[in-house]
Amino acid sequence: MRNFDSDCIFCKIAKGEISSEIVYQDEFVTAFKDLSPVAPVHILMVPNGHYLDLNDCAESDKELLGYILLVGAKIAKQLGIDQSGYRIIVNDGPDAGQTVFHLHFHLLGGRPLAFKNQ
Ligand code: 5GP
Ligand code: ZN
Repeated sequence: MRNFDSDCIFCKIAKGEISSEIVYQDEFVTAFKDLSPVAPVHILMVPNGHYLDLNDCAESDKELLGYILLVGAKIAKQLGIDQSGYRIIVNDGPDAGQTVFHLHFHLLGGRPLAFKNQ
């Protein structure tokens, strides 16, 4: 597993050094409520180890990356939006507006979501 980065806010959240509303955590993944939610359900799921973004991932991380999606489905069920629907997205790099450089997956739901595939 990757190490933590002592200057990274999401590493600090995963380690419990900064408080956040954690909704799920295991040895691989931490999921917590976004500070500025854009939907009734807005959760961030991060690998516990420090990856900058998807470009920073390798073949050897494929299980971890797939696992995060399954954790997303589990959290969606836990929060009661598995049937109403949800979206999981990664903003990677400047054009996508990435602002925190610790890989994270947004889990959005709880209302109809505008089509954003453009
Ligand atoms: P990005 O724009 O990089 O895809 O998403 C970063 C997300 O992290 C934003 O939605 C922002 O609201 C959230 N965020 C930034 N700092 C914190 C923090 O300290 N705690 C929590 N819970 N969310 C944060
Ligand atoms: Zn980090």
